Amino acid sequence: MSSNFTITRICHICGNEFLAKTTVTMYCSQHCRKQNQMAQERKAKLARSEAEVKILKEVNTTKQRAPILNKDILLVKDVANLMGCSTKAVYNMINDGRIKASNLGEDRLKWLS
Ligand SMILES: [Zn+2]
Repeated sequence: MSSNFTITRICHICGNEFLAKTTVTMYCSQHCRKQNQMAQERKAKLARSEAEVKILKEVNTTKQRAPILNKDILLVKDVANLMGCSTKAVYNMINDGRIKASNLGEDRLKWLS
């Protein structure tokens, strides 16, 4: 849909006055529109990078606080330490089905380490 009027606007990128066909046109040319798009993409990349750094910092802090999290296999005593409860409570949760667990047995654990 085209309009029959023109309105004077000021470009958000270069600051030059230009004649626009709508009241929401923000850029005087394709070049300025492209400049804005590139600035938006740069801004988004920076935001993603900052978010990634924040997540990695949190993960590293968590690993420093609980080196147990780096293990592939958690023992009942590890889970008890993580949860701040007794091993008996962990065994109860395993028996209730609230914690999924496998009994690997002593020989298997020696073989794995
Ligand atoms: Zn412009």
